[in-house]
Amino acid sequence: QVEIRKVNKFYGPFQALKNVDLTIPPGKVTCLIGPSGSGKSTLLRCINFLEEYDAGEVRIDGQLIGYDAPGRKMSGRKLREMRRSIGMVFQQFNLWPHMTALENVAEGLIRVRGLSKRDAQARAEDALRKVGLGDKMANHPSRLSGGQQQRVAIARAIAMEPRLMLFDEPTSALDPELVGEVLTVMKTLAAEGMTMVVVTHEMGFAAHVADQVAFMDAGELIAAGDPASILHQPQDARIQSFLRTYH
Ligand code: ATP
Ligand code: MG
Repeated sequence: QVEIRKVNKFYGPFQALKNVDLTIPPGKVTCLIGPSGSGKSTLLRCINFLEEYDAGEVRIDGQLIGYDAPGRKMSGRKLREMRRSIGMVFQQFNLWPHMTALENVAEGLIRVRGLSKRDAQARAEDALRKVGLGDKMANHPSRLSGGQQQRVAIARAIAMEPRLMLFDEPTSALDPELVGEVLTVMKTLAAEGMTMVVVTHEMGFAAHVADQVAFMDAGELIAAGDPASILHQPQDARIQSFLRTYH
């Protein structure tokens, strides 16, 4: 479980997050939606402290991330330790172009987890099969479609056996016909009980897969609740106007 309490974030004088409160329940999918610039990526990145928040708390299973105590930064070593249990998938796949799909997935297992090359490859093969790429393991990224590359990126994250997965618009860089295969993999993960936070513009995914939908606007978390209450009968005018742009 992730607890976000009164989180504030400034970029210089600009306040990107304003007293954000949100609880991410374990084993569930939370979708973060909202207009461009509303702070979705910033909030997601505060969860693994890729972005430093200025006030408030982010706790993962009770443990504060980024700080040992309010105002006292955690050591880099401790932060890396905490981040190991958090997987992240970005809009851009960030694969190494000179490595095969298998090597891309195995690399972190060898370097970060200290697995032997053999064990790492075995685990990487499992992860790639899981995302439906059992037959593409020897391909370099340039020989994979965008959807396949993003599935390699997901395999790379799940091979580390995270307890929490963060996705920042994982399908936004894809051609429309490739979006479905990536969402299907994400649905499988969700069905297996992975705790997921997904920033997305895919309203269908939010409506059908999310357990919780949170709507942000101008750095504020306006509302969070089950998909029906947020997407079908939103009370807030800002949510209504945002959703109108999708019809
Ligand atoms: P999008 O849907 O376009 O990805 P978003 O909801 O993810 O938008 P963020 O990227 O979190 O929005 O940005 C929130 C606000 O913070 C924006 O107004 C953005 O311009 C600002 N911002 C983000 N990163 C920085 C930065 N490094 N320095 C200054 N301002 C930033
Ligand atoms: Mg963003």
